[in-house]
Amino acid sequence: MRNLPDEIVIYGIPYEVVYHDSMTELDRMGTKKLYGRLVPDDSQMHIYRGRRHTKSIWRTIWHEIFHEILDSNRIDLADESNDEEQIINMLSVGVNDILFRNKLDFNEVKNGKV
Ligand SMILES: [Zn+2]
Repeated sequence: MRNLPDEIVIYGIPYEVVYHDSMTELDRMGTKKLYGRLVPDDSQMHIYRGRRHTKSIWRTIWHEIFHEILDSNRIDLADESNDEEQIINMLSVGVNDILFRNKLDFNEVKNGKV
């Protein structure tokens, strides 16, 4: 969990995780603060690393994972009563915090320890 992944597989599709030291590299339009972006056509997940703590970076990775889970299921939460970004932030912060506080480790799952 503490190590940052080079690849994340979502619903069987592998995405290369590309880390950037500058936020402007992520946002081609340069219009807003962007911590992560998933580009399905390139099978890449772009993540702003900078000097961020590993836990914050993982929170962004979860954020992008939840976007892709919703998109893959054609679920659009953005309407007048729901803010999709708010819901995704709640899920990514919650899941990430539980994994870190309980020291749940993806590498242990991969190696059959859990
Ligand atoms: Zn988002």
